[in-house]
Amino acid sequence: METTTNSRQMIRVKYSCASCGVHRTSVEVPARENEDVAQWVQSVMAVSIGVDHAARSPRCKSRTISEVMIPTTGADKIGGAGVQPVSVS
Ligand SMILES: [Zn+2]
Repeated sequence: METTTNSRQMIRVKYSCASCGVHRTSVEVPARENEDVAQWVQSVMAVSIGVDHAARSPRCKSRTISEVMIPTTGADKIGGAGVQPVSVS
């Protein structure tokens, strides 16, 4: 069994909620590793956003996030961490 949970890199995803006015706030999300993109979006990213949104706007009943921005800088795949440092050569 690999124990990658604790060493998993985090990325910062921004989201907006039109219902309560959260605008492009950022939340830390475990970076995608080997799972399918859809799987990661549904079971990792959406959960992290849902938790953050519920904490930030406990009275907001919206279950729909109006905008999600996933960083791509330095990442080699959707949702991936920035694994390739900027070349200095
Ligand atoms: Zn909201």
